[in-house]
Amino acid sequence: MTTDPRQAALTAATTPEPWDILVIGGGASGLGTAVEAATRGYRTLLLEAHDYAKGTSSRSTKLVHGGVRYLAQGNVSLVREALHERGLLKRNAPHLVRDLGFLIAAYKWWAAPFYGIGLKMYDLLAGKLNLQASRYVNKAQALARTPTLKQAGLKGGILYFDGQFDDSRLAITLMRSLEDHGGVTLNHAPVVGLIKEGGRVVGARFRDDETGQEHEVRARAVVNATGVFVDDIRRMERSDVKPMLSPSQGVHVVVDRRFLPGDSAIMVPRTDDGRVLFAVPWHDHVVIGTTDTPVPETSLEPRALPEEIDFILRTAAQYMDPAPTRADVRSVYVGLRPLVKAAEGTDTKSLSRDHVIRISDGGLITLTGGKWTTYRRMGEDTVNRAAAQAGLPERLSLTAGLKLHGATTQDLPDHWKVYGTDAEWVQTLPGANQKIHQALPYTEAEVRWAARAEQARTVEDVLSRRLRALLLNAQASIEAAPRVAAILAEELGRDQAWQAGQVRAYTDVAQGYVLR
Ligand SMILES: Cc1cc2nc3c(=O)[nH]c(=O)nc-3n(C[C@H](O)[C@H](O)[C@H](O)COP(=O)(O)OP(=O)(O)OC[C@H]3O[C@@H](n4cnc5c(N)ncnc54)[C@H](O)[C@@H]3O)c2cc1C
Repeated sequence: MTTDPRQAALTAATTPEPWDILVIGGGASGLGTAVEAATRGYRTLLLEAHDYAKGTSSRSTKLVHGGVRYLAQGNVSLVREALHERGLLKRNAPHLVRDLGFLIAAYKWWAAPFYGIGLKMYDLLAGKLNLQASRYVNKAQALARTPTLKQAGLKGGILYFDGQFDDSRLAITLMRSLEDHGGVTLNHAPVVGLIKEGGRVVGARFRDDETGQEHEVRARAVVNATGVFVDDIRRMERSDVKPMLSPSQGVHVVVDRRFLPGDSAIMVPRTDDGRVLFAVPWHDHVVIGTTDTPVPETSLEPRALPEEIDFILRTAAQYMDPAPTRADVRSVYVGLRPLVKAAEGTDTKSLSRDHVIRISDGGLITLTGGKWTTYRRMGEDTVNRAAAQAGLPERLSLTAGLKLHGATTQDLPDHWKVYGTDAEWVQTLPGANQKIHQALPYTEAEVRWAARAEQARTVEDVLSRRLRALLLNAQASIEAAPRVAAILAEELGRDQAWQAGQVRAYTDVAQGYVLR
């Protein structure tokens, strides 16, 4: 067993000296804000209730994109900003972002010119940070890129380029970057109350979920970046506050790579009910989604409705041959969109995807909305507001040019790439050639690394977000859980009962990702 790194972080977090900025929530928004604050030299603490990216930030479509759909809606400034951020992220985290071709298949004569014009505009809005330019492709070229595209009636298509990434790995990379720049960050540490003095929010109470002990921390500015849970924190300040969110859920299914064996994704610009659908190659599998279904309440583990799965598979079958069926689905995952409420009766598809920063009378700064692609910009805007509000010395943002932890352009094989420059260290640990399951690419060394260097505390932290086993093959991940629990127990100094409890808890969660 090595020394448990959590103790040092806990001691640092609970120092009596007030923090400049306390960030509540360790998803894209919170991590982006905390990295922004720490790199400007502000003393920064981040508290995450469960694990980094446990919420929506591990359940995205995995695109670093301007959003072709928002262009169709005429939201040009949002698209321009996102395309700019796409370019920055590719520069700053080349180990996590890659260019990917997206094919819009044309089965009608007018479709290629129609989408082609829009995508030229998309290229132009990206300016000098554009990836490859979009172009027309004929039927043979389309099939060379996406061999399982339905051939009957296919005229050709448009090929355009966007970025693709690994969402929870970016979250872990941001957490490491935060630590690299002197920030303190704790997971399994839910905020359970806010501290108020003279009507102002001056700190928070959090619980260390490993001991049950509560602690108080003070801060000059408190940022609420809890995704679909922002209203819970806002209610800690004022119980009668009106909710700002109107969440909707998006479902994805994951199938084997043989359903999309080429080097490009398929983009369906308009499904039967007016949505966009992607089939995207990811970690040697294919992610297909998504849906947009308003939900009455928030949950940490939202569940797909049968009609959402049917919709995805039915739409995929219109474009793919062979088409995946229910029996081919390796995993189903569901994310909640933190959409900012509009007037009564508005459809969630048309609500803002832009971010919103709201400051309460007591000074609580709430950041929500937006998307993964623009996390850096959201962080920059939030820290500008927080610093002004807390009277912190003004300091320039550095993150546009900040290389994230492990950044390298070296081309490492398959899943090792996400570790960047850390890959060589991971490979020195015991078990670098020992897989955790024959159907998964991951090794025992990575489990040890997750515990030693990446704050993994539970089997779920490892199998869902340090490794992507839960999303790639939920059943295989359940079978791997006992071995992962045993390695973690060795690393963290836990007993047999802990291991059994971990396997039970993980199995409970992962069963929800298996399609029956
Ligand atoms: C289906 C879907 C697909 C998407 N696809 C894309 C895409 O391809 N590209 C893209 O750019 N964007 C995409 N997005 C948008 C993007 O994923 C989200 O905007 C982003 O992940 C939201 O991050 P967040 O930090 O605001 O919320 P979250 O990721 O939900 O993070 C909030 C965190 O706060 C924590 N928390 C809650 N309560 C407390 C508490 N009391 N104390 C401490 N912590 C707490 C939670 O545990 C959670 O980890 C997609 C969204 C959805 C829903």
